[in-house]
This record gives sequence, structure tokens and C-alpha cells, in this order.
Amino acid sequence: MSTDRLTLGAVEHAGRESASADSGTSGASSQMGGGHNPAPVRSGRKVQSLNPATCELLAQFDAAESEEVLAAVADARRAAPAWRNLGPGGRARYLVRLKDALFRRRHDLAALVTREAGKPRLESLLAEVLVALDSLAYLAGHGPSFLEAESVPHQNLAVRFKRGRLEYEPYGVIGIISPSNYPFSIPMGQLAAALMAGNTVVLKPSEFTPQAGLAIHTLAEEADLPPGVVNVVIGDAVTGAALVNSAIDKLVFTGSVATGKRIQAEAAERLLPTVLELGGKDPVIVCADADLDLASSGVVWGAFTNAGQACLSAERVYVVREVAERFTQLCVEKTRRLRVGPGEDPDAEIGPLIRERQLKIVEDHVAEAAAAGATVLTGGRRLNPGGLAGFFYEPTVLSGVHHGMRVMREETFGPVLPIMTVSDETEAVRLANESQFGLSASIWTRDLDRGERLARSLESGSVMVNDCLSSFGIAEAPHGGYKMSGLGRTHSRVGLMEMTRVKYIDVDLLTKVPKLWWFGYDTRAGRLMEDFVDFLFAPGLWLRLLGGLGLAARAPGRIRALRRPRE
Ligand code: NAD
Repeated sequence: MSTDRLTLGAVEHAGRESASADSGTSGASSQMGGGHNPAPVRSGRKVQSLNPATCELLAQFDAAESEEVLAAVADARRAAPAWRNLGPGGRARYLVRLKDALFRRRHDLAALVTREAGKPRLESLLAEVLVALDSLAYLAGHGPSFLEAESVPHQNLAVRFKRGRLEYEPYGVIGIISPSNYPFSIPMGQLAAALMAGNTVVLKPSEFTPQAGLAIHTLAEEADLPPGVVNVVIGDAVTGAALVNSAIDKLVFTGSVATGKRIQAEAAERLLPTVLELGGKDPVIVCADADLDLASSGVVWGAFTNAGQACLSAERVYVVREVAERFTQLCVEKTRRLRVGPGEDPDAEIGPLIRERQLKIVEDHVAEAAAAGATVLTGGRRLNPGGLAGFFYEPTVLSGVHHGMRVMREETFGPVLPIMTVSDETEAVRLANESQFGLSASIWTRDLDRGERLARSLESGSVMVNDCLSSFGIAEAPHGGYKMSGLGRTHSRVGLMEMTRVKYIDVDLLTKVPKLWWFGYDTRAGRLMEDFVDFLFAPGLWLRLLGGLGLAARAPGRIRALRRPRE
């Protein structure tokens, strides 16, 4: 195993790899799954790791066949009882080892993500490495107390002599399907929560970023996690569908709305529980009292970081009329100064899009908006910085946009910032909510109370006041959407609890006393029940007192009757 870089040579799955040389491509082919089973019949489907800045083929893999997915799930299932039995404290210690392994490999990991996903090196360190380290540290530190059983005091007198407890149990095997835009931190954060809760995992990374997914397996090995606890299957949509239809106990999916809906329909067939982290069209509201210099810097970053390929990207801005011209001008000036280039260039701020398909969507949104009357204030074309062949698009600011345009309604997922002038904040909130999405939003104002008030009126899973996007990196912040942006939550305590099922355990302390509500119904039992209802819930004190007296008088006889054998 290579020790200086996270490379393909370092990603062999303990005991279960079926790596094969792949003639005709430049990369080795490495495959998780199927090592103990006869080699599956290959469909010939390939997964390519490309450098999106240069289009250089970094590696090529056979997409995992269904049998390999099933084998990985079976391995995860076998490893599950021992992993669960370690208890929260034991699992937390492994999470710390995973964190330490990641820290040791931070530079390799950042370089790998930059190579494979194209993002600037600084963003790889910040949004991939640092965010993942923080998730691991947070879950290892707080997970054991979050997972402690809770006692449930009973308010109703009838059940006062019972001891109730909530226990948080792992599901068993969690399937994780990931996208390409944060190819390491998204699956790593979800995997950390799944493991902390006592589950084992089968991860299918995006077909565009297989190496980032495999790096998670390498790190698990380096942290000496028991075999079978972390499994990675490389593949495409067909591989993903095989995982959805396998014997996993819950699925955490991150990706587009279209795929999420398809998966949810499949999952419904067997009531497979899911968490769906889907797309967004996050609105930004700029109030008249905003610090425009701060707001424009924040919004330009929120729109263009990761070349706009973030589910939480600032995808549409509503700025009130009084400050619209100045705010727009500042955005345009700051956007023009952004440096587009390959992520390896330390000065580059905007890398390429992941693939040609994404570039085409961005071009279509901009062209359609321009044809419908929008003004392209800056940007609006493909670029080839330094003659590179990759999928670069110039950061683009649009004005004169409206909700009739797709660029204001559909997820663009690229470096495009459309700015719409509105008459006031009320109109801004109405337009912000006029969307099928509801992932996140941001509000810019000097009046923090106003910011919070507006935040409450927005239909989205999170809202940031005077910042955007960074809630993704706050380990304590739940992440997830309203409306078409998804179901359930990841990150934070809430995301950890998503990886558990709640069991209620009730222990009756009156071990010899039959219950007043058991069979043996007759008129006297009926009267007793009426007294009981009166005693507990009658609005007036007098009726309650009467009920209480009746209850005290009839209960002993009822208990004696219940104890007598029935004829
Ligand atoms: P995608 O839906 O095309 O693919 C996501 C993953 O699903 C990939 O691993 C893919 O192989 C797999 N897949 C595709 N079809 C499948 C099927 N039928 N069954 C099972 N798996 C299948 O999404 P993408 O283009 O890779 O990612 C971009 C999208 O992800 C954007 O919409 C973005 O907003 C969203 N996203 C959301 C979040 C969030 O937390 N809400 C985070 C990142 C990205």
C-alpha cells in the first residue's frame, strides 16, 4: 500500500477486492465487492475518474455489478453485531482514529479531491477535509451522550407505576449514495454518523468521483476499523439502484430531485426508510440596511464557491430597490476580479464544472435568460484558462431576471448569479418562497432582529443571517430541506438520531397487580372507567372530586374481580 499519497494502489478492500487491470485505459481498475464469490458476469459498464480541468483520465473502474453490491451488503451485515456491541464509547474511539488518520492524510486527500473534482486546493482543505474532521470530532465527542437511553416519566396516573425508557438502536446496515460536488465530506459526515450510531455502511460514491469515495475506505483501513464495517462499491446509477434494492436497512441519498424521487418510489415498495438530501435554489434577500460591501462579498462567494456546484449555493438574489444598483455594481466588480483556473493553481478561485453535461445546463440557463430579456453584466461564456481543455465557465452575473426564466426556478448548479430587484422585503420573501425547493436561504441586514424575523418567514430547512452556505460546515447545524429539497436531516445531533430507530421499553413495577382496563367488562367496570375519566379530566373541581371518590371506592373491588378466575 502506498503510504505517501492516497492513490488507487492504496484502496484495496481488506479481503474483498477484485481489482483487475483494465486494458485500453490509462488507469488501473479497482473494484470493491465480490472477492469471496465467483467473478460476476461483467456488463462492461465503466466508471471514469477524470480531471475536469484537463479532461485527463486519472483512472477507470468496472462499475460494480449487482452481485458485488449484495456481497458488500452481506459483509456489512456480518460485521454489524460486533460493531454494535462495541457500544457508543468503543465506537467513538474508532471515530477518533478515523479523524487522526484523516488528519495525517489531509494534504493527500485535498490534492486527490482537487484532481478529481476540480475545486481549488483551499476549498478542498476547507470544505472537504476540515468539515469532515469537525464532523468526526463532534460525533466522537458528543455521540455517546446523544445516544444515551432516556427515561420517560408518565403524566397519567393510570400508568404512573411503569418505568418507560427510550432506547436508540442502530438500524443495522446503512446504504449511502453520494454526489460529486463534495465527494469526500458529504459521504464522510454521513458515514461518521451511521458508524457512531452503531451501524455498518455500504457507500456508493458518485461515478464522477470514485477515488474520493475509495479514499474513505483507505482511511478506514488505516484507522484499523474492523473489516466489513466500511464498504465501498464503485459504480453508476445501475450500481446505485442495486444498493437501493439490496437488504440495507436505511438509505441516505444525496443528489438531484429527479433521482431522489425515483429512489423514493423504489424504496416505497419495501418501506425502506430514507434520508433524501436533494437540490436547492437558495434565495438571498438583501435588505436596504445591509452592509453592501460585506453582503456583495458574501454573496459572490456563496454563488461561486465550488464553481457554483453546491446544493446551498446562492442561486437567486432579491435586492430591495433602494440599494439594488449599488449592490449589483459591487457584485459585478468583485466577480470580474475572480481568477478562473485549475484547482492546483494556488491563486485559482473558480475551478471547472464536473462534466460537460453540467456546463451545458449552465449555458442553457444563461442563454434562455438572455433571450428572454436578462442582461449579462459579466461572464456568460465557456473559458479555457491556459489553454486547458476542461469544463470551465466564466462567473456570470445577470440582472433583469424574473420567475418566468429557468435560471430563477430550476437549479443551475454552476457559476451564475441572477439578481432581481424587488420593491421591499415582503415581496422578497414572497418570491423566495415561490419555489419548489426549500433547502437554505440567506438574509443580509444590519438589524439582526429583522434578520431573524425574516428567517422565520422563509420556507427552508436553514437560514443564515449575514452569511451563506457555511451552515454546511457547522457540526451542530442540522442540514436538510423543506419541499422538494428532501426528507430528513444529516449533520448535528438530529442527523445522528436519523441513523437510529427509537425503541420504547416499558417495565411495569406493580408486578402482582392486574390492570383495571383488562377484560372482565361489566356495568361496575364501566362506572369505574367513567369515574376515572372524570377524576382525570373533568373541568370542575367538584366533578373531579366525585370521580376520585368513585374510583377509590370501586378500584379495590375491580382488582379483586380481575384476580378471580372467570367462569
Ligand atoms: P445525481 O442525482 O445525478 O446522482 C447522485 C448519485 O445518485 C450518484 O452517485 C449516482 O450514481 C446515483 N444514482 C443515479 N441514479 C440512481 C438510481 N436510479 N438509483 C440509485 N442511485 C442513483 O446527482 P449529481 O448530479 O451527482 O449531484 C448534484 C445534485 O445533488 C444537485 O441537485 C445538488 O443540489 C444535489 N446535492 C444535494 C445536497 C444536499 O445536501 N441537499 C448536497 C450535495 C448535492
